Amino acid sequence: MSDPDEVAVVGAGLAGCLLACFLARRGLPVALYERRPDPRTGTAERGRSINLALSERGLDALRRVGLDRQVMAEALPMRGRVIHPVKGEPDFQPYSHDGARAINSISRGALNNALLDAAAALPGVRIAFGHRLTELDPKTGEMTFDTEGGPVRACAAVVIGADGAGSAVRAQLLAHGGLTESLDVLDYGYKELTIPPLDGEFALAPDALHIWPRGTSMMIALPNPDRSFTCTLFWPTSGTGSFASLGDPAAIEGHFAAHYPDLGPLAPTLVEDYRRNPVGTLGTVRCRPWQVNGTAGLIGDAAHAIVPFYGQGANCAFEDVVELDRCLAETGGDWTAALPLLEARRADNTEAIARMALANFVEMRDKVASPMFQLGKKAEHLLERALPGRYVSRYELVSFSTVPYAEVARRVRRQHRMLGAGALALAVSAAAFVLLRRNR
Ligand code: FAD
Repeated sequence: MSDPDEVAVVGAGLAGCLLACFLARRGLPVALYERRPDPRTGTAERGRSINLALSERGLDALRRVGLDRQVMAEALPMRGRVIHPVKGEPDFQPYSHDGARAINSISRGALNNALLDAAAALPGVRIAFGHRLTELDPKTGEMTFDTEGGPVRACAAVVIGADGAGSAVRAQLLAHGGLTESLDVLDYGYKELTIPPLDGEFALAPDALHIWPRGTSMMIALPNPDRSFTCTLFWPTSGTGSFASLGDPAAIEGHFAAHYPDLGPLAPTLVEDYRRNPVGTLGTVRCRPWQVNGTAGLIGDAAHAIVPFYGQGANCAFEDVVELDRCLAETGGDWTAALPLLEARRADNTEAIARMALANFVEMRDKVASPMFQLGKKAEHLLERALPGRYVSRYELVSFSTVPYAEVARRVRRQHRMLGAGALALAVSAAAFVLLRRNR
């Protein structure tokens, strides 16, 4: 059963569900197609990250559909990073100069379910689970889905692919010659481990994101409402110190004892987790254009997946949805104008966060442990206090504001130039002063 006037949203993940909410609030009939069964009645898919960091951009979108309070009720605020060196005590580094601002660790499953409930409750939204899109004709809006009962055909006036990094909608648009794409797969993968509660309490400080920076690799841990932590290893996929190089239990135990000595006593299922949990791939997806004929388009990871090192992928996908809603409002609901407008406004911003996310990997796995970096962060917080509103760190602008990502990149470059000029002026004055005194 399908209504040719419907908007079909393929993928009931984070972006797809939020988009269904926004479209239904505009009075549009929406069909949300999801390949998985209803996650509210089953268990989470293994291998997808369990929790994620939600920050201001994501919260801004949730506020607009009245879901922020519900989602934040279960959130665990993380006010900074705790760095775990191989030897020595962990070190806390606040995210903001006053230590007050926090990013929020939330359950991906709970967020998705809250969005699904919200979408399902709106008039005009129907959700078809167990529907995996396999074919799409962008000219006619005809779709074919694989279902348990065999192939199902459907049709829609507009089709939006919110089906994630490996988007089938994008593949179909590519197959019909509608776009070009590039996939930069990182030679790093990720694997999750668990730190269970210790005597019923959090085993580590719950108000921080924990990082074990190890130069060419790292592990992070985020707290969960059940007082456990989910750790994510970001390791090379091949070569020394890679996932491929570590298989038997003794080698796994030995490696963690040498490189993550404080983890072993806190993670009793470390070896089982390591051997059982899959290695996920990481990469950057770029494609152009994001839409074909103004009737088939892409949003979120389907259009521009990024590496997770700034904790911004979902936040950015939510921003896309807000912007698409704005474009529809400004174009009087004309999709053929709104979809190109969305791309024109978002493409530079998504490219900017893609680059910042890659750069942040180097910072997290390598630089955060260095005394020079820590000194730099302290100096940055001093500047933020001394020049309120005039000097704002990149982290602050990305995580605690909705300043467009491309503008963040430009502003940070300007600030660095200003600081460089300031430092030069200071050096020239000091040299002139020395010369004057010598010539007296
Ligand atoms: P997805 O969440 O991938 O949803 C796509 C949906 O489409 C899924 O439900 C899928 O089942 C469905 N689907 C796929 N193919 C089909 C098909 N053919 N037919 C029908 N349905 C289909 N972001 C943050 O903001 N903060 C973080 O801390 C963070 N941490 C991360 C950690 C890791 C390890 C990873 C890998 C990512 C992280 N991200 C984070 C990024 C974030 O997960 C993504 O950016 C976000 O999930 C994108 O949302 P989406 O709705 O576009 O895609």
